[in-house]
Formats: sequence, structure tokens, C-alpha cells
Amino acid sequence: MEIPSENSLEMIQRLIEAYTKKTGTTTHPDPEVTEAVKLGLARNKDELKKPLCPCRFYPDKQEEIKHRTWICPCDDMQIYKYCHCLLFVRKDGLPITEHLPEDHEGRQIYGETKDPTPDKGRPLKHQAEERERERRERPS
Ligand code: SF4
Repeated sequence: MEIPSENSLEMIQRLIEAYTKKTGTTTHPDPEVTEAVKLGLARNKDELKKPLCPCRFYPDKQEEIKHRTWICPCDDMQIYKYCHCLLFVRKDGLPITEHLPEDHEGRQIYGETKDPTPDKGRPLKHQAEERERERRERPS
């Protein structure tokens, strides 16, 4: 596996620090989980110039970055405060699923986990309908 550049690593570290603060979330209690996601984001930043989510498979990464759906912090995070990579989670290490639609994979895997700071984050929550349309039409 390629080692990402210092610049990208620093940028991702700043993103993580700012975004946990903004959303009232924390990084995973197991630092190896956080490190793996951080490296993946930094590698994608080097390769694609964008921090594409490293926890998903994309048939074509260049095509994918034309959409902002999975650029970190992704639409699911900004709309539902759900991070499927477990980078932005609650103190107990669980992702927040409270705001997800019931048929979302996050609900199916984790059940309903409450948001301890509902007054923080979700700047794009008004785009939920659009996101669900996209999930049906362009599953990625
Ligand atoms: Fe970032 Fe979203 Fe991936 Fe979490 S799931 S690391 S918020 S892109």
C-alpha cells in the first residue's frame, strides 16, 4: 500500500479535528480504525485530489468524484450524521443511525442508535429527499 503524502495526511487530520468538533462526534475508540480510514482518505486525496470515502467500492473513481456524494464528509454524514467508515462516531464507537431512513443499511446493521448532540451537524438535512432519490437511481 502506498504511503500518502504529508500534505494530504495533514489536511485529513485537520478535517477530522474540525468535523468532530462541528458535529459533536468523536473518532473511533480503537485508534487503528481511525488510522486506516485516515490513510485511505489521504491516499484518495493524493490520487484524485479529493478525499473520496475509502470504505466503498467504485466502478470508476474518476467518474464518482464528479458527484459530491462520497467526498468526505459525505452526503450521508451531512444529511443523517451517519459515518459508515466509523470515523465520526459516538463515544461508545457506534455510528449514529437515529436520523437514517428505516430501510437504510446503517439501520439494518446497527439498529437505532441515538444522536447524543442532535443540535450539532447535519447542515444538509433538508436534502434527505434528494439523497434517497439518488440512492435508488445511482446506488454507489
Ligand atoms: Fe467520511 Fe462519509 Fe466515509 Fe465517514 S462515511 S469517512 S464521513 S466519507
